[in-house]
Amino acid sequence: MVYGALEAGGTKMVCALGDENGKILEQVSIPTETPGVTLPKIVDYFKGKEIKSLGIAAFGPVDVDPESPTYGYITSTPKPGWADCNIKGYMEEALGVPAGFDHDVGGSLLGEATYGCAKGMKTAVYFTVGTGVGAGIMIDGHIHHGVACPEFGHILMRIHPEDNYKGFCVYHGSCLEGMACGPSIEERWGKPGKELKDNDKVWEIEAYYLAQACVTATVVISPEIIILGGGVMHQESLFPLIRKNVKEMLNDYVRSSATKDLDKYIVPASLNDDQGIMGCIKLAIDAVN
Ligand code: ZN
Repeated sequence: MVYGALEAGGTKMVCALGDENGKILEQVSIPTETPGVTLPKIVDYFKGKEIKSLGIAAFGPVDVDPESPTYGYITSTPKPGWADCNIKGYMEEALGVPAGFDHDVGGSLLGEATYGCAKGMKTAVYFTVGTGVGAGIMIDGHIHHGVACPEFGHILMRIHPEDNYKGFCVYHGSCLEGMACGPSIEERWGKPGKELKDNDKVWEIEAYYLAQACVTATVVISPEIIILGGGVMHQESLFPLIRKNVKEMLNDYVRSSATKDLDKYIVPASLNDDQGIMGCIKLAIDAVN
């Protein structure tokens, strides 16, 4: 059985075929231009491949409420052409198969929960830290959506005492995304993170904000694991710094089986950056099973 997977990102569309075990059989990447240009290219890729269903995890905001008339739409994005794009409906009609749908970070969390480091767990949080910051939340084995998608990237931050940066978020300034996303590092320091690998102060400040996000996740959701993925998290020195800050910030207040070993509690994504597309395979499997 072959399933289609579409990880719809703001810069590229990753299209893949996968099997019932989540194995990626082949994969291509198509640049994200306008829907009129890009969606037919995606259809061309999947046409004739005899997929049983498609799983889509899309950049947002997206409508993930199955009861909503705009379920499966990318909704109010500022990205030109993509606002109110019925990506799920378009693909289902063009390919003649049902499609499962979620937001991009939910897809990554689903990948980790099905095939990766959160396998077998019921409650988990996945942060992506890249161009933006977002989180997927799994509660009792289900990706949590609520009325709209949660916006964990926009929790407000306590400012690091040595940080004078005002923040990158146009709505809140110094929210988590505003202080910790990749572009915030570049704007604060005048060059991108990958050119700042050996500057300890950069990562001390970055870890201070990401630790606050982990603390909030811990006290609000009480997960079994917190996974951090995305481009910024390729700076591996962040992990011990985040754990150290989390330990200090929690100050022994939360004592659970999960938080007693922070090395196992706060971890990098485990699927070699395939967690998103593997989550899409799972969405496709779930759409017909
Ligand atoms: Zn914000």
